[in-house]
Amino acid sequence: MATIDWKNLGFSYTQTNCHIQYVWKNGRWSDGELVESPYIPIHIAASALHYGQEAFEGLKVFARKDGKVSLFRPVENAKRLAMSARRVCMAEVPEEMFLDACQRVVKANLEFVPPYGTGGSMYVRPLLFGSGAQIGVAPASEYTFLVLVTPVGPYYKGGLQAVKAIVLDDYDRAAPRGTGHIKIGGNYAASLYPHIQAAKAGYPVELYLDPVEHKWVEEFSTSNFLAITKEGAYVTPKTPSILPSITNLTLQQIARDMGMPVDVRPIAFSEVADFTEVAACGTAVVVTPVSSIERAGTVYKTGPQAGAGPVMEKLYKAVQGIQYGQEPDLHGWNVDVD
Ligand SMILES: *Cc1c(COP(=O)(O)O)cnc(C)c1O
Repeated sequence: MATIDWKNLGFSYTQTNCHIQYVWKNGRWSDGELVESPYIPIHIAASALHYGQEAFEGLKVFARKDGKVSLFRPVENAKRLAMSARRVCMAEVPEEMFLDACQRVVKANLEFVPPYGTGGSMYVRPLLFGSGAQIGVAPASEYTFLVLVTPVGPYYKGGLQAVKAIVLDDYDRAAPRGTGHIKIGGNYAASLYPHIQAAKAGYPVELYLDPVEHKWVEEFSTSNFLAITKEGAYVTPKTPSILPSITNLTLQQIARDMGMPVDVRPIAFSEVADFTEVAACGTAVVVTPVSSIERAGTVYKTGPQAGAGPVMEKLYKAVQGIQYGQEPDLHGWNVDVD
């Protein structure tokens, strides 16, 4: 039995019973094996290590009010991983295998799912990488798919906290026809240096603009951009070089359900000061309100200085309400672990 201080869990790795592992060789996937050790032997010439042939996903499991445990929108993650795999020439993980892997690994680690009421969840991290030896630059002949799970705590302990963002015009996240739309480790490695620069300057998040003109809003380093206009519409950038966030899709649907107009369109940076609320969104935190955005020494106010604006607060509560089973799941987003 796990002895975990649920209330003081952060967002870091806690050892669980096992992860699940599959290997693709000679055109087929193995059956999947639960493995206790958090270490894997890997060939020194694996294509993932040298050429970054890898992609990952992130989703969550919640213990609900009715006592059930469910995965939140796992089919969307399965589809996105398949899209990433195609772009970096890896063997695709079939949707059924992806869902089965998540079910099996969660079931084998049920005692690590933070109980209902603690505000925590189980973070599920699927990972696909080229494990075959490959010295010449080419797709590997062997792939490993694994899913690890780890319990994580409530991100916000006393209500939503706003953060200050900065635009670093010396850096771009993704090229126009590059790999910004897929969830690969390389995008993250490239974002670390600017992230540290921003943090040193006192900004927890950086906002990226389009790499061609630096005129249009793209996304934050690891989360999408969304804003509320004076007219009360939900707006979020339409651009091919951002990662299609599942949380963003969820929030858009909830906004529509609340009767708000939702506009997915190019957003000029010059508009940011006109928004009443701005936030970053992603699985780990759902929404992070952004109180201001600095660019080249000018600070643009984008929301309340401390907590969240009323719309972000409402959207956040609505998502959590569905995830924890306190509100009806009208769109069938919760997939029971059974
Ligand atoms: C994962 C990720 C997001 C958030 O996606 P979700 O599906 O909402 O978790 C946003 N931007 C980037 C760059 C990401 O890698």
